Amino acid sequence: MSAPLLSLRGVSRHYPTQAGVVRALDRVSLDIAPGETLGLVGESGCGKSTVARVAMRLTDVDEGEVRLDGEDIARARGRALHAVRPRVQMVFQDPAASLNPRTTIGQALEAPLIVHRRGNTAERQARVAEVLRSVGLHPDMAVRFPHELSGGQRQRVAIARALMLNPALIVCDEAVSALDVSVRAQVLNLLLDLRETLGIAYLFISHDLAVVRHMSDRIAVMYLGQVVEQGPRDAVWHRTLHPYTRSLMSAAPSAHPANRRLPRVVMEGEQPSPLDPPSGCRFHTRCAHATDQCRASAPALRLLGADHWVRCHLA
Ligand code: ADP
Ligand code: MG
Repeated sequence: MSAPLLSLRGVSRHYPTQAGVVRALDRVSLDIAPGETLGLVGESGCGKSTVARVAMRLTDVDEGEVRLDGEDIARARGRALHAVRPRVQMVFQDPAASLNPRTTIGQALEAPLIVHRRGNTAERQARVAEVLRSVGLHPDMAVRFPHELSGGQRQRVAIARALMLNPALIVCDEAVSALDVSVRAQVLNLLLDLRETLGIAYLFISHDLAVVRHMSDRIAVMYLGQVVEQGPRDAVWHRTLHPYTRSLMSAAPSAHPANRRLPRVVMEGEQPSPLDPPSGCRFHTRCAHATDQCRASAPALRLLGADHWVRCHLA
């Protein structure tokens, strides 16, 4: 792999709450190469959005490194942080909530250019028109307000806004999860086209393994704040190593063509609380194969194939 664009090393993020400390991330390490898409998948509450906020530096980390183009930005503040902002942009799940209802689309798209002092008025407006076209919208859209747009159009605007400053990385956090199936396919194809033409890297987050597979070069699977399996897409898909990944696949049978032939792997019980994660392997309370070793000792991430990592004693 070429030198990573974004690299997380041993990142932990703990949220103190009245009920105790939520261990949202526990020594998470991830790399994304320039132009690459890393898919991040796992159940609700496993820490995906916290990874997104760390990558965007919207939150601090308690421990570990966050490197962008080799520079550790984990503790960057003020001007140093302002300088890295244009490099990493984000598209959220709900474009209606991320667009101000009283601001025209043109104003919303121009705002990041003004904040980062790019171009004069005419140049900024030309850029707005250019980016609207690149996401498949007519430049006339600039005079409209968010409520005049469909859900799919609003998500295209959210993508356009993320593109305005020519980022190297776009973090998509459940960016298509709220869209209807047909619109979702169009937006996913737009993201793939933009990657092709602009060479953008994505951190593509979804609870839906099928969507992650469609989009990603590599896949990382998270469980209770930890990466439990990580590797090239086809390796994770066809030579699945972690029982949790297998249960995610079997929870979405349509997602996996071979699934109908596989025995269903049904997870036992609820996801445990991140306030008090299980001892040993965090997955042992829901794993049909768990042994005494799994209950007693925490597995490390092991390399079991070309760039294919798994956190399981039994794999
Ligand atoms: P995901 O995006 O995978 O659903 P999150 O990263 O949003 O997961 O959350 C991971 C865990 O951290 C969850 O248990 C969540 O409740 C908790 N958490 C997230 N943000 C905060 C916060 N600001 N304060 C307290 N707990 C939080
Ligand atoms: Mg989330």
